[in-house]
Parts: sequence; C-alpha cells; structure tokens
Amino acid sequence: MEIIPAIQQEIQGSPRQIVIITHTNPDGDALGSSLGLAAFLKKKHHAVKVIIPTPYPEFLDWLPGIQAVICYESSPKNVVLDLIAQAEIIFCVDFSTLNRIDHLASPIKNAKATKIVIDHHLDTEEFADLVLWNPQAAAASELVYELIEALGEYHHIDKALAACLYTGIMTDTACFTTPNTTPRIHRIVATLLEQQIDVAKINKLVYANQSLKKLQFLGFVLNKRLKVLENYRTAYIVIESADAKQFNLGTGDTEGIVNYALSLKGVVLAALIKEKKDGIYLSLRSVGNVPVNTWAKEYFAGGGHKNAAGGVSHLTLEQTIAKFEELVKMNQNILRNE
Ligand code: 5GP
Ligand code: MN
Repeated sequence: MEIIPAIQQEIQGSPRQIVIITHTNPDGDALGSSLGLAAFLKKKHHAVKVIIPTPYPEFLDWLPGIQAVICYESSPKNVVLDLIAQAEIIFCVDFSTLNRIDHLASPIKNAKATKIVIDHHLDTEEFADLVLWNPQAAAASELVYELIEALGEYHHIDKALAACLYTGIMTDTACFTTPNTTPRIHRIVATLLEQQIDVAKINKLVYANQSLKKLQFLGFVLNKRLKVLENYRTAYIVIESADAKQFNLGTGDTEGIVNYALSLKGVVLAALIKEKKDGIYLSLRSVGNVPVNTWAKEYFAGGGHKNAAGGVSHLTLEQTIAKFEELVKMNQNILRNE
C-alpha cells in the first residue's frame, strides 16, 4: 500500500492515543516537525504527546506547543514509559535509527503501537510499520508539510503550525543556504508565510537570542580553542569538560559554534570536538563533496547528512583529536580538491 493512504487509514476516524518522539538533543527541525505534526493531529481530535529523550535548547523555548513537550531525562521514567506502552500510534520524527533515541530505543521497539517514521536522514533501520522517508528532503518539517498537503488537509495549517514548520525548514537549511534548498522548499515556505508568521521575529528568536555567557564562551573558544590545519583546509574546535564547567554551559550552548570554524576562508571541513561525561562528541560540517556522514560513520560510530554529521568517541580526548587529524590526512585529496 502506498504510504500516504496507509498513514491516512491510521489517523482517520476515532481519536487515538498518539506519541510523537524525536531524537536526542532535539534541534529546530526535530521540534518544529514534531510540534507541527502534533498540532495537525490535535486538530483531527487525537490525544497527542510529544516526547523528547533529552532537553531542548533554550532558543526554541517559544515554539508553539513546546510547554507540553515531555522530556524523558527530566521526567519520572514510568510516566514516559507508560505513555509509550499505551500509545496506539507512535510517530518517529527526524530520525531513522533507534540509536538516535538512546534509552528509549527498547521501549519504542517493543511498543505495541503502529510505528510510523517520518525522516530525511540517510541511515535507516527497519523497525517501523510505515516509513515516510525522503533523504532528498531538506527537513523533516518539509515532509510533515508534504504529508498534510497530500492528505488534502492543508486547511489545518494555521499560524502556529506554520511557525513550527518554518522554523524546522529554516534551521535545517541553515537559513535556506544548503544545497537541498530547492524551488519546492521556497514554494512551501511561501505558503507558510501566507499564515502571516513573523519571519523577522522567528529569526531573531533562533539566531539572535544569545545569553551573555554563550557569547563570551564563543569569544573564548575562538581565541583559545580553534585549531586550523591550513594545508588540509580544515579547522576544528575542542571543548574540554573544564571549559564547559567554567562557563556554566547549558543544553544548546555550543550549538552553532562549529559553523564559525567552517566560516574561515578556504576551510571545507570543520569539527567541534566536545568532551562530555559519557564520551567525546563530534559535530562535523563541510561544504561541497566532502562527505562528513561517511567519515562520521567510519570513524566515530555516527552518521548524518553529507555536509552535517555527528558521532561519538570513547577514546581519550587526545586520542580522539589524533584520530580526527588522521582522518583528515587520509582524506587530504578530497579536501584539497574541493
Ligand atoms: P549535530 O552536529 O548538529 O549534532 O548533528 C548534525 C547531523 O548529524 C544531524 O543531522 C544529526 O542527525 C546527525 N548526527 C549527529 N550525531 C549523530 C550520531 O551519533 N549518529 C547519527 N547517525 N547521526 C548523527
Ligand atoms: Mn532534520
């Protein structure tokens, strides 16, 4: 059966208990797509709960509907697990592999609900009953829009729903600059703008809403922690646990920092290497044909998109940095030819 009629069959008719879950450290697209989908399903009279494995960054605190989001890490575990166990339908949005939801992987896998994936990431895993998947889509929010439109329910898109989807598309396309920003994306955005959303305000809330400590931390890392490998057109930033402690950083406070490394003239590969309690986390960014998703998978048990990927290392910080530099040297031809 085709995917849209199959989803339609699940959500038409009597109200259902629905859970929407998104990946760990949810970003603008994870939350924008989930909250947009939640708003749509609520209009269809379903009982909907959005669950996030770990907290969201402060700059998304204004998204319509975010107050009702349930964070597994900061809630009584049995409350969240009961919601998952009792759900009739579970939407997994903006991720395709269960390792992206950490401790919730088994509860979701074992839940009796019909599971529906809506995603645009390359890596996939077969655990869902229905999969609305398009790796060419620029954002999961684009797929939620396409779903609502294909269901013939466009009239349900109001100002709040449009703001959620717009935020998802804006953040995942880095403000409409990534190569997957198609004419179709601009047409979708045009229809969202018809709902009178305030794009200047949304932009300010997402990108120009920094805490003083975050801005001062940015100054510190650019001054003290940025390393440039000029010969390899690479720049990377290392954040030690002590740095995060000194600046009293919270969730999302290092978000976007990797882009400063990529903004350097001539640089085609950038990394943020961040020491945390349970491992060293890497955020990789690139331009053009530099395939950071492949490298994240090969070297750091991760994945993502061609120009934006992430992974983790359980080596020491020094060993992880050495491994990163090694991967850069191994792939110098790709980096030099970009
Ligand atoms: P970020 O650097 O912003 O955390 O992640 C960039 C992209 O890489 C996102 O699309 C995210 O989904 C993906 N990503 C980050 N970490 C991982 C990981 O550990 N595994 C996989 N498969 N993808 C990741
Ligand atoms: Mn996304």
